Amino acid sequence: MTPWLILLITGQADLPHHRWQDTTAAIREVFAADKRFELRVVEDARAVTAESLAGYRTVILNYNGPRFSPTAEQALEQYIRGGGGFIAFHQASYGEFFGMELRGGRWAAGPGSGWTEFAKIIGASWRPENIGHARRWPFLVEWSGPPNPIASGGAWMANDELYHRMDLSPSVQVIATALSAKEIGGTGNREPVAWTNRYGQGRVFFTPLGHDAMAWHQPAMRRMFLRGVEWTATGTVTDPPPAAKPLRVLVITSGHGYPTAFYALLDSLDGVAWTHAASHAEAFARPLETRFDAILFHDMHNVTTEQTRQRLQAFVEAGRGVVSMHHSIVDYTDWPWWYEEVTGGKYFEKAVEGHTASRYREGVDYTVTPVKGKQNHPVLRGVGPLLVHDEVYRNMWLSPRIEVLMETGAAENDPPVVYVGPHAKARSIYIQPGHSAQTMRDPGFRRLVRNALFWVARQEVHP
Ligand SMILES: [Zn+2]
Repeated sequence: MTPWLILLITGQADLPHHRWQDTTAAIREVFAADKRFELRVVEDARAVTAESLAGYRTVILNYNGPRFSPTAEQALEQYIRGGGGFIAFHQASYGEFFGMELRGGRWAAGPGSGWTEFAKIIGASWRPENIGHARRWPFLVEWSGPPNPIASGGAWMANDELYHRMDLSPSVQVIATALSAKEIGGTGNREPVAWTNRYGQGRVFFTPLGHDAMAWHQPAMRRMFLRGVEWTATGTVTDPPPAAKPLRVLVITSGHGYPTAFYALLDSLDGVAWTHAASHAEAFARPLETRFDAILFHDMHNVTTEQTRQRLQAFVEAGRGVVSMHHSIVDYTDWPWWYEEVTGGKYFEKAVEGHTASRYREGVDYTVTPVKGKQNHPVLRGVGPLLVHDEVYRNMWLSPRIEVLMETGAAENDPPVVYVGPHAKARSIYIQPGHSAQTMRDPGFRRLVRNALFWVARQEVHP
């Protein structure tokens, strides 16, 4: 099948607020993962003409800057009116297109009315005095209104700016909304975060989301966007073919209880085929390295058998991946090689020679944030800060050779919360939260677990 041609117009934004270079790179990456589309990018919108738009199924605008030339504006209007698809987002909702001008660093109404057709195309406008958003923080996006082909899957977590107090035209269909929390400077209302509109024969999709690369790394954001692209281009939405080869993960539990939401977490891991071993006898009966790409440890045992040690050592020496969650940091007190060379951390239930006992407390709200300089680590893609209601651990033994990816400032917890273990051949990640059902259901946490499994298995972390 010939891919659908998509054109991205970019090259200007209100720097430093919106780095169009970063978001353009992120959008290129979204398209690179979907072979149904072929993306072309132009960075000089003034040169747009009817001829240069011909052949594209959808035009995407990543832009906030001076008005286009009259020729370009008219060409784009005619293209959409004639049935071309159109998508714009975030910073395209204010500025010179709407007749605004910057006065003293703030947008204000200018002398003219701007490109009046543009507000009609996207179905929205914003009074300058209403421009704003709550403090940037992860928030839940929920689908709304009648069924829409762009809406797919459950509610999801955005890590973005939530624009508020926009004026939508009665012609739009709102697809998704999010609560703008008053505590962080929002309106206390549900604000629209995605809608569709018609302009002539053309289909239009607009989302006020998409502030920066982090916002575009949210898998559900990418999914919604690609569905929007397909809908504007064709009028229908199909599901892309699933990944051909799933990641094979062995999940080991026993020795400690866990909420049933753990299974919902496992089921949410796209591209993962998981096998559950509910005891060590079951887990270590047969060789592991030929059957699994990664092991997810959610067990808690101080004592290991000779068989356990042999199987795990062979798995690690073969370069397979290890992800340890929450109480599995207690594991294998009788086997220092495991925590010194592989996981890099250890919770001591009782004091042992050279180490006092570690401590825990259940039901604490704490924030986990990426360590400065580690934000772009593949394991943290799309994760953002997490606010968890979970157990705090402190006074743990930590290897000086771990690479800490996420940390907390919580008083009752040691700072490292997510880290890479020291082993040279096998990749290992420890993720401390994972006690409460709330944590298991947190989209950011789910993303973290999925990223970690793919990364330790040395497979590309797919969006
Ligand atoms: Zn922004």
